[in-house]
Amino acid sequence: MTDWVGRSAADIAAAVRSGEVTARSVVDEHLAVIDAGDGPINAFNLVTADAARQSADAVDATIAAGGDPGPLAGVPVALKDNLCTRGIPTTCSSRILEGWRPPYDATVVQLLASAGAVSVGKTNLDEFAMGSSTENSAFGPTRNPRDPSRVPGGSSGGSAAAVAAGFTPVALGSDTGGSIRQPAALCGVVGLKPTYGLVSRYGLVAFASSLDQIGPFSATVADAALMLGVIAGHDPADSTSIPEPVPSYTESLSAGVAGLRVGVVRELTGEGIAPDVAARVNAAVAALSAAGAEVTEVSVPAVTYGLSAYYLIAPAEASSNLARYDGVRFGLRVDAPTTDAMMTATRTAGFGAEVKRRIMLGTYALSTGYYDAYYGKAQRVRTLIARDFAAAYDTVDVLVSPTSPTTAFAFGAKADPLSMYLNDVCTIPSNLAGHPAISVPFGTGDDAMPVGVQLMAPALAETTLLSAAAVLEAASGVAS
Ligand code: GLN
Repeated sequence: MTDWVGRSAADIAAAVRSGEVTARSVVDEHLAVIDAGDGPINAFNLVTADAARQSADAVDATIAAGGDPGPLAGVPVALKDNLCTRGIPTTCSSRILEGWRPPYDATVVQLLASAGAVSVGKTNLDEFAMGSSTENSAFGPTRNPRDPSRVPGGSSGGSAAAVAAGFTPVALGSDTGGSIRQPAALCGVVGLKPTYGLVSRYGLVAFASSLDQIGPFSATVADAALMLGVIAGHDPADSTSIPEPVPSYTESLSAGVAGLRVGVVRELTGEGIAPDVAARVNAAVAALSAAGAEVTEVSVPAVTYGLSAYYLIAPAEASSNLARYDGVRFGLRVDAPTTDAMMTATRTAGFGAEVKRRIMLGTYALSTGYYDAYYGKAQRVRTLIARDFAAAYDTVDVLVSPTSPTTAFAFGAKADPLSMYLNDVCTIPSNLAGHPAISVPFGTGDDAMPVGVQLMAPALAETTLLSAAAVLEAASGVAS
C-alpha cells in the first residue's frame, strides 16, 4: 500500500515520468499516511486532499498526452503556512489571519506547481515564524516524530516534522534566523537556507524582510538540490531577487571535497555547545578531512554579537511589517466603538504573547532617542559580521559549526524568551550576512536524538555547499 512513502522526491519524479506509477497513487499513499499519523504530530494546519488529488490527476493527464510534467512530477510537497496559496487559508499559525484567503500564490508555490509537484497542505509554525520550537502556534504545538515528548524545533517545525514523519518527501520553510536549519537538525532531516535573494520572497508573509529566505526540507541532500533548482531564480515581483542565471545544483552534487578548504568556526564550537553535539561535529569534520578536505580552525569574531544584533533588527522589521494587521485589511476583526479601540481589541485578541513581545521590542528599538543606540548599532554590527565572514572566506571555502547547540528539547523546557533565543546562536550569522547554509543530519546525541551539522558558504556558493553536504551525508551512515 505504501510503496512510495519514504522514497526520495527524485525517485518519485522519475517513476511518475516514466509511467511506472501514477502521480495519483503516489499522492493517495501519502494522504493516507498523513491521515493515519498526523493527529498526534500536528505537522499540518490544513490538508488539502481534494486539491492534491486534482493536481495529481492533472500531472497524469499531461503524461498521458505525451507532455512533460516537470522535474518534480507527482512529488507531494508540504508548504509552511506563511506561504500564500490562492484561495486557500494562510494563517501564519496566528488568530489574526482567521478567515483570510490570499488572492494569489507565492512565486515558489507557482514554481513548484509548474514543476509538477503536488501540494498536500499547509504546515504549522511558530506564530509569524517567531520562535524555535513551534510551541508559539495558535493551533497547538507540533511534536517531533523522533520522540513526541520533544519539540520539532522551529519556526518551520511542521515542515520539518512532515518530512521526518514521511508525510511528504520534501517541504518548504522560511528561515529568518535559523527556522529551516534548526528544525531540520532537531528532526533529523536536511534543511537549506539559500543566499538572500536567490529565491523569490513574493508571497512569503513578511517577518523581517532583510533576513527572510525560503528554502527546502528533504530527507536527502540530492532532493534539497532538486528543490532548490526549481524554486531559485530571478523574480521581478521581488525587488531583492538576484537577476542571475541559476546553475545546475544536481550536477554539482558529486564534486566531492578533495582540496576543499574547510574552516571550523572557533566561536561557534566551544562554550554553550552540548558535548554530545560537539562530538558529532568533530566526527563530521573528521569525515570531511578523510574525504580530502583541508581542515583548519578559523575565527569569525563578530559572530558572537550576532544574536544581540538579530534580536534588535528582526523585531524592528517585524514591528513595521506587522502594522498591517489592523482589523481592516486582513482576517480577524474585533468590533469596538471607535477605530482605535477596534484596532487595539483586534491586535490584543489576534496576536500571541511572543508576537506582542517582538512588536514592543522592535517599536522600542526604532523609537526616537533609542534608534541610534539600538537599531543603528545593530546594523553596524551586521556590517562587522559580513566583514568577518568575508575575511574568513579569503582563507577557506566552507565553514562548519553545529546547527543547534543541543538536540531536541522537551516541551516547556525553554519558557523564558532568552533561553529560547539562544537556540539560534549558530544559525543567525548566515542570515545577517545573507549567505547560504545547510543543516545535514550527522548521527545522534546521547539521548538518541538527531544532531545536525551546519555548513556555511559565501553568497551564491550553493553548489559548493551541496557537494560538501553530499559528502557528509555519505559519511554519516558509516560514522554514526
Ligand atoms: N528563532 C528565530 C526567531 O525566533 C528565527 C526564526 C526564523 O528564522 N523565522 O526569530
